[in-house]
Amino acid sequence: MSRTEFDYSGRIARAQAALADRGVAALLASVGSDLPYLTGYESMVSERLTMAVIPQEGKPTLVVPELEAPRVDPRDGLFEIRPWGETEDPVAIVASLCGGPARLAIGDQTWSVFLLGLQQMMPGTVFQSARGISELLRLRKTAAEVDRLRAAGAAADRVVGRLADMRFTGRTERSLAEEIGHMTIEEGCDAAEFAIVAAGPNAASPHHHPGDRVIAEGDSVVVDFGGTVDGYCSDTTRTFHVGPPSAEFVEVYEVVKTAQQAGVDAVEPGAAAQDIDAVARRVIDEAGYGKWFIHRLGHGIGLDVHEDPYLVDGNEQVLEPGMTFSVEPGIYLPGKLGVRIEDIVHCTPDGGERLNNSSRELRIVG
Ligand code: ZN
Ligand code: ZN
Ligand code: ZN
Repeated sequence: MSRTEFDYSGRIARAQAALADRGVAALLASVGSDLPYLTGYESMVSERLTMAVIPQEGKPTLVVPELEAPRVDPRDGLFEIRPWGETEDPVAIVASLCGGPARLAIGDQTWSVFLLGLQQMMPGTVFQSARGISELLRLRKTAAEVDRLRAAGAAADRVVGRLADMRFTGRTERSLAEEIGHMTIEEGCDAAEFAIVAAGPNAASPHHHPGDRVIAEGDSVVVDFGGTVDGYCSDTTRTFHVGPPSAEFVEVYEVVKTAQQAGVDAVEPGAAAQDIDAVARRVIDEAGYGKWFIHRLGHGIGLDVHEDPYLVDGNEQVLEPGMTFSVEPGIYLPGKLGVRIEDIVHCTPDGGERLNNSSRELRIVG
């Protein structure tokens, strides 16, 4: 697999059609995933501006710091490159490429300092979030994109398999998180994106930052990690138990596992995103743990680990074939324990296909 196989000119054509549809003169893409989606180039996150100007018609231009221009693959003239030198004003260059007062769409993750500069330089121009346009492009994955997500998921599953055979006792959360990162690369990802290892009472903090806690007998350990293949992410969570679990832990684990299965089973084209959340949440509510399920059921995934569609109450987005998202219920008992089980699910015409397939049975480690 390689990024050169993606149909970038088709993506740009679809973006331009969406701009024409909405009367938007150009899309400005900087840090964030719209730029790599459309051009295959990922901006460095820095005070030096990198920004692609994708006009409604004609060739896009990538405005890029001169010292970073050697990194850019122009992809057979897909876009022009406008390197800017250290004494030039890149915001003025972007403004001149955008022309007269118009409506422009700009990526959500663009640094505000650049948007503020553009606004000052272009009075009369209306800026809107590019999210509506990028969502339109990126929400339904093509087969080539799902292939990458599947490969990233399979690599993560192999890491889970290796974890289940490892000894946890005596290691710190941080050392286990580092090892997960190494294994993620060894199993075929281009990059390890993140690894949460939360042991004992820390397992009750869903986004715990792995620290110096030494994992000990009696801990539940929530392990949540992901890596990328050609930029597309995996994101999976398994909860292990060190030594024999309490009856309470086993009960909580079974409730989460049942809720996760119910959520996956509910996935089908035509269902609303919020319905999937509701189905899984009901299982947890009815078991009496609803108060301790403190986050949405899931999030879309692609070039971003978190993107549309979000599986959350209030989101009426209708699921369609090609959408990919996590299903990740959890129960967190403060000061005591936490359990989360997460798989990425691909909505197919026939229902949900899990892109993670490591065992979801409760696994006891040493
Ligand atoms: Zn999360
Ligand atoms: Zn996760
Ligand atoms: Zn997730």
